[in-house]
Amino acid sequence: MAKLPGPLEIYPLLPGTNCKECGEANCMAFATKMAEHTVKLEACTPLYEDPKYAKKLVKIEELVTPPVREVTIGVGEFAASIGAKLVLYRHDLRYTNPTSFFLDVPDNLDSEAFAKRVKEIEDWTYMYIGTNLRLDGIALRGVSQDPQTFAKAAKNLAGISNWPIILCSLQPEMLAAGAKAIADKRPLLYAATLDTWAEVGEIAVRHNLPLVAYAPGNLDNLATLTNTLRAMGVEQLVLDPGTASKSGLGSTVNNFTQLRRSAIIKENELLGYPLLAAPIAVWADHREGEAPELTKWDEVLTAASLIVRYSDILILHSADMWTNLPLTFLRSNLYTDPVKPVAVEAGLQTFGDVDADSPVLYTTNFALTYFTVESDIKQAGVTTYLIVIDTEAMSVQTAVAGRKLTAEKVAESLEETGIADKVNHRILVSPGMAARISGETEEASNWTVKVGPKDSSGIGKYLQEGKWKEE
Ligand code: SF4
Repeated sequence: MAKLPGPLEIYPLLPGTNCKECGEANCMAFATKMAEHTVKLEACTPLYEDPKYAKKLVKIEELVTPPVREVTIGVGEFAASIGAKLVLYRHDLRYTNPTSFFLDVPDNLDSEAFAKRVKEIEDWTYMYIGTNLRLDGIALRGVSQDPQTFAKAAKNLAGISNWPIILCSLQPEMLAAGAKAIADKRPLLYAATLDTWAEVGEIAVRHNLPLVAYAPGNLDNLATLTNTLRAMGVEQLVLDPGTASKSGLGSTVNNFTQLRRSAIIKENELLGYPLLAAPIAVWADHREGEAPELTKWDEVLTAASLIVRYSDILILHSADMWTNLPLTFLRSNLYTDPVKPVAVEAGLQTFGDVDADSPVLYTTNFALTYFTVESDIKQAGVTTYLIVIDTEAMSVQTAVAGRKLTAEKVAESLEETGIADKVNHRILVSPGMAARISGETEEASNWTVKVGPKDSSGIGKYLQEGKWKEE
């Protein structure tokens, strides 16, 4: 397996001036974070700006380039970065750059239907543990087979949306027209094949755009195509080994697995590029009169199989809540850092039109704890202040046991949130699981601590009956 560089290998290649431009205390701290993959090399600006570090820059870029390179589609805040994969198994470190979901828009829709479809894609969202799950980009399909129509649709799309775009056509003339129209939006070109590599490769080089190499069902052909495009000077490549549904899904999954194993375990840098899957292909099998739900089910199954088998980007057709919800949940769970519990921001939260008589509760910043408490307070319908304490994303019981939730910390949080200026009482409701620190908390804070329910499900009744005010 590709060996990930440690801080002692990275450090000698940094300028060594400890200038703090990167936001770290010194070069060693930056090297440590580089080794943990929590900062990017670009943050060390002197390395790029001062010509005397040119040799070091070449060496360090070589050292820290991941076995699967990173490719960026689009520009600005909505740009999608895919790839940059470091490990085959998530438990070895973590997965980076969650699989991007691009949904198709045909180029031959009338302008009203076109805008409606784009809005449908952009508006799809679902709130999950404090994160807005959403789709990532738009795949413009050259259904018209007409370069002018395709270029016009690309221009229109870039005008009404900031989202990253894939230009989809196997005809070089179509891609040439689309790329010329919106090259400044840095679209991904889909795709160069064994028949069209010369023309399409030239378009990618001319506009400096990322390009998909497409060789369905034959990994040797895909490697040859990739090698040829690299030799032409295409720098940012994405590999598509073909997506077959139903009876072919097993071999598709095998191909994706082999490609990723080759890149990370065998260190075959020729195949070290992000992988594209096209579950939309299932719609080619859809027959008129068949229930579309069955085809959508096929698409979800194909997409799910390939999300867990290393696809970095998907092209999908279905935009229903029920089709994308399981896929975005799956992606979210797979790409959550396994060693880092999910946290919410610490601080003061308010529910309803709080006033000086509202109760004051506290909890921890572990996402699952917080959202359970939040939901119970909302259901109670009682205006409430909730102080969220940073316990390094530990639940109440664990945080108390591990001394991450202490009386001093609660007192500090009361101080920091300025809650004493907002209410005319000094009663703090502690979680039932933090009962054992309630006495210490009273001493540290000078607030009266009332121990609330052990289980968050009791909060609603507790608040509604005003138990926190009882003597
Ligand atoms: S910006 Fe570069 S040179 Fe300056 S402290 Fe950070 S790593 Fe060192």
